[in-house]
Amino acid sequence: MSAAVAPPPIDRVRNVAVLGATGSIGGSALDVIARHPGRLRAFALTAHRDVEGLLALCRAVRPVHAAIADAGLLDALARGLRDAGLDTLPSAGAAALEQLACAREVDTVLAAIVGGAGLGSTLAAARAGKRVLLANKEAIVMTGALLLDALAQGGGSLLPVDSEHNAVFQCLPQAFARDPARHGVERIVLTASGGPFRGRRRESLLSVTPDEACAHPNWSMGRKISVDSATLMNKGLEVIEAHWLFGLAADRIDVVMHPQSLVHALVAYRDGSMLGQMGHPDMRTALAHALGWPERIEAGVPLLDLLAAGRLDFEPVDRELFACLDLAYGALGAGGTAPTLLNAANEVAVAAFLDQRLPFLDIPNVCAATLEAIPVTAVASVDCVLAADAEARRVAEAFVARAHGSTR
Ligand code: NAD
Ligand code: MG
Repeated sequence: MSAAVAPPPIDRVRNVAVLGATGSIGGSALDVIARHPGRLRAFALTAHRDVEGLLALCRAVRPVHAAIADAGLLDALARGLRDAGLDTLPSAGAAALEQLACAREVDTVLAAIVGGAGLGSTLAAARAGKRVLLANKEAIVMTGALLLDALAQGGGSLLPVDSEHNAVFQCLPQAFARDPARHGVERIVLTASGGPFRGRRRESLLSVTPDEACAHPNWSMGRKISVDSATLMNKGLEVIEAHWLFGLAADRIDVVMHPQSLVHALVAYRDGSMLGQMGHPDMRTALAHALGWPERIEAGVPLLDLLAAGRLDFEPVDRELFACLDLAYGALGAGGTAPTLLNAANEVAVAAFLDQRLPFLDIPNVCAATLEAIPVTAVASVDCVLAADAEARRVAEAFVARAHGSTR
């Protein structure tokens, strides 16, 4: 895996395709890109259905291309661009997003679409040998080695944007190439804030609302990942992501609660050293690190005031309250399609919770039931992954419908 193959320094403008530009990560990335006009350019922007949001971004950054995933919205996008007097080229549909991820002029692809919907364009960028900045953790959870193989075959590189993985990457030797033993790495520690429900009793979460679950105390993020943070499924997906990115077995990846969200992850070495990365909980730091790598570029994030921060707490995870974490460790241990099944079931359950069709506490139940209902198979190809994903979504929807029927 080429997570640490150094791309050239920024000696010419890097054209960036921002996939998922209207999202939380997309917005933070555009903020960083705008700080470096001579070095970074938002070459292409994409969105799902939010034409107005995409047009507003186009007016601000004047990309060469803009694509909307919903093919039925091409005319609205084209009209909006024309009315705004922009010569940005419009396109639409999932295939258009994949084409932009592979475009000859693009050297960096920020994979910031949420969920399995980002898989196609992330894989396309990897196959095309781009420098892939990975925020879309679901893509690597689903495909693991297949994504890494695609990167290796395409001759590109991958830089983690997820704050914990970016932190681990920063704490590893530059020459790190998925060979932890050679570098004396014993374990890595991912921190988790615990989200809005840390310290709560399970019974008190029976009727929490989507807005309560999305009210993260430290991070401002999209709604799906906010719910994942409230269940700790996010950390579970991150354990799987770390396994693939850094080549460590599950029993060498720890999760600890750290309510301040200032230490993002640590790497523990054989000699007793623990290197950690600290900073404000602001994704622009990880994004600037990945966009500028191997240079350090300005992110718009102030340095931490250690004296104001005062203290750093570390606590064990309440594994009963946050059952999703063990489901993820279990899926990683089971291997094959298990992480895909878990991810798909979780996406269905979270969407149902956000839609008020499923109680919060049923999210892990739907995931566990889906994992139990579908046999795990080997991941021989992307088609196997897509088939497992589709089946898990069907089965999970049925569990949601049953749970919904019983609570009405
Ligand atoms: P978000 O919901 O704010 O934005 C999602 C983006 O994906 C939007 O631009 C949306 O238009 C696009 N999108 C959604 N469905 C799509 C579809 N079917 N086809 C094409 N585009 C689609 O999400 P976010 O919080 O920015 O998270 C994006 C990804 O980054 C997720 O995988 C998340 O886990 C990861 N991530 C986010 C953060 C964070 O701080 N927000 C941190 C670490 C990792
Ligand atoms: Mg994270």
